[in-house]
Amino acid sequence: MSKYVIIGGSAGGIGAVEAIREVDPAGTLTVVSEEKVPQYSRPMISEYVSREATLDTMKYRGDQFWKDNKVQTLTGRTATKIDFTKKQVELDGGTKVDYEKLLIATGGKPFVPRMEGGDKSGVFTFTELSSAEKIEATLEQSKSAVVIGGGLIGVSASEALVKRGITVTLVELKDSILSLILDKTASDMAEKVLTEAGVTVITGQTVQRILGRKDDEAAVGGVVMTDGTEIPCDLVVVAIGVIPRTDLVKDTELKINRGIVVDRSMRTSIPDVYACGDVAEAHDFLIDGNRLLPLWPLAHLGGRVAGYNMAGKKAEYEGGTVMSSLKYFELPVIAVGDVNPEDASDYEVLVELNPEKTVYRKILLKDNRIVGFIFLGEIEKAGILFRLLKNHVDVSTIKDTLLSEEFGIVTLPERLRQEMFVVN
Ligand SMILES: Cc1cc2nc3c(=O)[nH]c(=O)nc-3n(C[C@H](O)[C@H](O)[C@H](O)COP(=O)(O)OP(=O)(O)OC[C@H]3O[C@@H](n4cnc5c(N)ncnc54)[C@H](O)[C@@H]3O)c2cc1C
Repeated sequence: MSKYVIIGGSAGGIGAVEAIREVDPAGTLTVVSEEKVPQYSRPMISEYVSREATLDTMKYRGDQFWKDNKVQTLTGRTATKIDFTKKQVELDGGTKVDYEKLLIATGGKPFVPRMEGGDKSGVFTFTELSSAEKIEATLEQSKSAVVIGGGLIGVSASEALVKRGITVTLVELKDSILSLILDKTASDMAEKVLTEAGVTVITGQTVQRILGRKDDEAAVGGVVMTDGTEIPCDLVVVAIGVIPRTDLVKDTELKINRGIVVDRSMRTSIPDVYACGDVAEAHDFLIDGNRLLPLWPLAHLGGRVAGYNMAGKKAEYEGGTVMSSLKYFELPVIAVGDVNPEDASDYEVLVELNPEKTVYRKILLKDNRIVGFIFLGEIEKAGILFRLLKNHVDVSTIKDTLLSEEFGIVTLPERLRQEMFVVN
């Protein structure tokens, strides 16, 4: 029997271990992780492939972390079944671990559509260290790559490969890249930066099938696009999206929508079972409801809240919202909240656009409250906007100054400053 069992030892699992140990220094604690070294920063996979980081420099917590926190680690092991009645987790090989409190922090898994040729060697995903290591190992012998998917992961994969001297074609089915987090103007500017860095971007199309090499049919030799064009390449990275890894609890009574549904204590629908991170559907403060928000800091925070509650200290998850902070080829971008409303007629939109300097700043307001913003090229003061957005502060009196140079924390009226720092 382990008092606490955590499945998954990444951002969410680590957050929970830390919180549990703050409250209960002695209770038995077991972490089950399929990955042998789970405590690395997943967002740094791109830097690992580009050789800007090593496994050591991308560690989110040091190797002593588990020992220092008196964690029994079952690494390289997969949880295969949970019996919620017996309060027992079954692992590969049949080992059973009893729990009093359980956290499911199994994260996400890459969505890989069925595609002719998808089983050839040289086809990779880009979400795990093991895939990054495999890509790394092939790069010395590779000249060109096709990356399928122009979202955050596809763009970061493209950047890493270009930095390693690989000729990259990025393929996106939609009309523009990064369309989930940017509007068309910002997306076009980001695409220009990618193109100038040497990436060929193809939008409005996808890969229909993957071809073999002339001398080795089992290895990637190219792709055929939907319009029939053939693009020769040595490797293909599938980066279409990530979906919650709910397989383990799929046919159980646990409430799942797109992810495992949790309340603001990170409790699931089953007593003593918690969930957090990419596998969970947790609170979004902007929509005041639950949704999937696959972001590292939120997984860690959700893990902390789950950990406190598991150990008996009441804690509430303040929630997050859609937010991305990135830097591709030195272009900084921050996008938060509702930036692409289908019907913009209810919104007030403030814009500053300077294509020569690659600067674009857009703020969306609804009922005098900031509901979303994109800062591209110049991201100063985004933190202030985020606090105003998060706390639904009425900005009617300062609306005209939001994009001005003088806008800043010191020029904010006292009342707004107080409201933006209230912890909800
Ligand atoms: C390339 C890339 C770039 C990213 N960039 C950013 C970024 O810039 N900013 C940002 O905020 N977020 C970013 N993210 C998202 C961020 O990494 C995730 O939100 C975060 O890792 C989620 O943490 P988690 O603990 O929920 O799950 P994960 O980090 O997915 O970890 C889950 C762990 O559980 C293990 N596991 C799963 N099932 C089982 C099982 N049955 N038995 C045992 N172990 C199991 C997995 O092997 C894994 O180790 C990026 C993700 C990727 C892939």
